[in-house]
Order: sequence, then C-alpha cells, then structure tokens
Amino acid sequence: MRITDVEAIHIRMHEVKKQCDSGQDALIVRVRTDEGITGLGEVDSSPLAVQGVINGAYSHQLCCGLRQLLIGEDPFQTEYLWQKMFRNNIYLGQSGILFHAISGVDMALWDIKGKKLGMPIWKLLGGGFHKRLRCYASVLFGDTPEQTYLEAMRLRDLGFTAVKFGWGPMGKDAKTDVALVAKARAGLGDNLDLMVDAGLVWDTKTAIQRAEAFQQYDPFWLEEPLAPHNYEGYSQLSKATSIRIAAGEEQDSLEDYRRLITEGQCDVIQVDLTRCGGFTGAMKIASLAASYHRPVANHGFTTYINVAAALHWLNSIPNALIVEFAAQNNTDLRNILTKQVIRAKDGYLEIPQEPGLGMDLNEDTVAKLRIT
Ligand SMILES: [Mg+2]
Repeated sequence: MRITDVEAIHIRMHEVKKQCDSGQDALIVRVRTDEGITGLGEVDSSPLAVQGVINGAYSHQLCCGLRQLLIGEDPFQTEYLWQKMFRNNIYLGQSGILFHAISGVDMALWDIKGKKLGMPIWKLLGGGFHKRLRCYASVLFGDTPEQTYLEAMRLRDLGFTAVKFGWGPMGKDAKTDVALVAKARAGLGDNLDLMVDAGLVWDTKTAIQRAEAFQQYDPFWLEEPLAPHNYEGYSQLSKATSIRIAAGEEQDSLEDYRRLITEGQCDVIQVDLTRCGGFTGAMKIASLAASYHRPVANHGFTTYINVAAALHWLNSIPNALIVEFAAQNNTDLRNILTKQVIRAKDGYLEIPQEPGLGMDLNEDTVAKLRIT
C-alpha cells in the first residue's frame, strides 16, 4: 500500500466567538492511499501554519513540506515516517508547529493501519486494559462564582463523577479565585472529584498561596497554575503542596515532557494526541511518565477525533488515569463534524471497537464549512 495524497483541511464555523474555546474551528488531516483506504487525523494548533508545514514546497534538506515527503511511502512504516518528517524539518524547531503537524499525519497513518488490518488502534498498540474509562467533564469557570455553582450542579446531574473547571476569571484576585473553587465544590457536593485548571495565571509564590487556600475544597489536581516552561516554579510548588499538580498541554516534544517530569516534578502528565506527535509520540511520553511512576491523562478540547484518539491511546498503556471530555455547552462543531458522536454514560466513555480510529467525517459539514 502506498500514500497517494495528504490533505490539510481547514474547517471553521461561520461565526467564531472570541472565547476560550478551541472547538470552533479544526484542522483535519486526511491521508489517501492507492488501495482506497483513507486515514483521519486532527491538529489543535494554528490551522494555516499547519497547512504550511504540510503543503510547503521543498526549501532545502532541513525544511520540506510533509506532503511530498510522504507521497509514495508505505503508511505502515509509522516510526520511520515520523523520523523522516522530523529529520527533514529540523529547521522548524525542536518543538511546536512541526510536532503539531506531524501529530495529524501520524494519527491518520495509524487509522489507515487499523482499517487495513480490521483492528482498532489500541489493539495495534498492544493494548486492551479497559472496556470503558472514567472521564471528567471539562468546562470553563463561570463568569462569576454563582454561575460556576450552577454549572457544577448541571454537570453533577448529568452523572459525571469528576468535573474540571478552568480559565475564565481565575487569576483576578485572591478573593475571586477562592470563591470560584468554593462554589465549584459546593455545586458538585462532597462525592465528586473536582479538578482546577488555573490557566497559566500565577507566579510561583501566588500559586503556592492558592494551593494552600484551595486545599480545604479537596481538589483532585491543580492544573497549569504557572507558565509552561517555569519548571523551577513547578518544582517548588510541587514540594510545597500535597495537591497533585497537572500540566503538559503546552508541551509537545519528548524533551519537553522529560523536563516537565524531572525538573518540574509534575504529578499528572497531560498529553494532547493532536499536538505531541500523534500516537507515535504519545506512546513514548506515556513510557517516559511510567518510568517516573507518573499517571497520564489526555488533553482535548476540540473534536471527537481527538477524544477517540485519546481513548485508543489510554487503552494501550498501564498508567492511564482519566479522560478529559469537553462538556462546554456552547460549541457546535464537534457535534456535526464527524458521523460518530461520543457521549459519556454514568461518567464513563466506551473504548472504540471499530477498525482504526473508528471515526468518519460528515461530508456535508466538510462541504459547508471547509475554508481551504
Ligand atoms: Mg488545561
């Protein structure tokens, strides 16, 4: 089997609001083969920048569009092709946009392998740890503590056993920060797990103060309180609190994750399959984390392609903790982009059993919302 084409498809809602929501547009990668099998992948990054990395012309030996590196190649050679894409683009940097673009391609190649062999990706990866995985409902903090309280009750009533609130007004001042977490806990009650995603808002000492103040509300983890590369700060925070510190969605290379674990001493390692080098990258990150006795979770706030990829990956590793599942009310794209719509039941997500990723594009939506 040979690769015949690689498309980077930019989908965008007619109206995109200026809000913390990466589910309003999407960059989908579709890889075609001479046997008629196609693979799907997704990238959560700047869509036009990713298109440039994929469609770009040959510039020189260390900078060449991924598409032309892949055409004519065997899609089963995922590790070899990953290294080929990386090695031929070293000038793009050792983390960032190159890793994001490779992620979408790598995901699509694994989808092709699964479809050809009639197996879900988790089986190709040697997994099969779970029938279903516990997920947490992932939403933004309300604009006020009171709105956060109402949202917490809504999610509790939907049957979730864990909920994460993030970003929004967090970081405004000490009183507001604590009130947001207090109201989130009040709305969830004592029996649900509460995750707090600070959204990169504090310096190290403020983060230590907030961790102390949040302790009485029993957070399951405190996520991204500091700037992504403040590894020294993460280490100080981690030593100062018994609350688990979670981070990783801004990291993408294996080297970045090594620093997050060994220098930052983070407890829960978060990995976005659409940014970290796809399955090929994510499996290495999971192994690295396991070697330091760290659990991992996915990051995903985009489409169900990302969620499906996360489920295949988390079902293939021994240190899966929980699944992020976006439960924000105001994003429609994910519900119309793919034929399959993933739903939580009693706070759990079923592991996909279809060949490959098990996801198909809704071509009507693609025709309507494709920009380029
Ligand atoms: Mg986050």
